[in-house]
Amino acid sequence: MTKDEVRNRLLFYQDLGIKTVYRRSPATSRDKPETRNQEPATSHQPPATTSQPPAPSPEPRPAPSAELVVLPLAPVHDNLAKISDDIGDCKRCRLHEGRTRIVFGSGNEQARLVFVGEGPGADEDVQGLPFVGRAGQLLTQMIEGTAHKEGIPLKRPDVYICNVVKCRPPENRTPQPDEMEICGQFLFRQLQAIRPKAICALGSTAAKAILGTKDGVMRLRGKWLQWRDIPVIVTYHPSYLLRPYNQNAKKEAWDDLKKVLHYVYD
Ligand code: URA
Repeated sequence: MTKDEVRNRLLFYQDLGIKTVYRRSPATSRDKPETRNQEPATSHQPPATTSQPPAPSPEPRPAPSAELVVLPLAPVHDNLAKISDDIGDCKRCRLHEGRTRIVFGSGNEQARLVFVGEGPGADEDVQGLPFVGRAGQLLTQMIEGTAHKEGIPLKRPDVYICNVVKCRPPENRTPQPDEMEICGQFLFRQLQAIRPKAICALGSTAAKAILGTKDGVMRLRGKWLQWRDIPVIVTYHPSYLLRPYNQNAKKEAWDDLKKVLHYVYD
């Protein structure tokens, strides 16, 4: 099989929701125990609960000669343009039925910090850009205001912003597990292509997609967690902070942002 044929086959499996495919490397001995040279796309590090960002693990790890090899589902030299091309005029899940535009993401492809939200709302759906409505304005203020106060010269276009699902869910409902699973493969490719120094998950849907946890934001926030070897901070979704009765959470969200900004930009 040619490389392209292999890749097409893998994409076919991905579309079916199969995210990890193994092949036996030529030197495999059937007697050897199975080991892996790389985390499968679906697996997540167990959340660490430290106040320090986790130390990045050395990369890339050499492929041992006789063992099962995880085939990487992302193309070798992946980038945002390729990922967007692969999404194409996506009809992989029901969310395409109600969308106006796919909201892929925006910002710096080489960003050191990536923010991940849940899914586009009405304004984002019309403009094709993430976080441009009221929640987006608050997010911009949070990023730029906190950076300014902390003496960090950072503007919104310096970071990258995207969502777990790329099409607006009807009535802004929470994305369903199969929608998150199907679209999550593209989020993971975005994160892997950018390889930021840290990721900030906004709200529980982003936390669930990235960390594979059912824990809510209140339990997860304020701690360093991990996606593959990249440190993750979870904080409140800006839409939650817009509600007048959640004002106490604002201070916590600002603390979370301070923490991640200093880690990334100091
Ligand atoms: N909420 C999100 O989670 N993402 C957006 O892009 C806008 C609002």
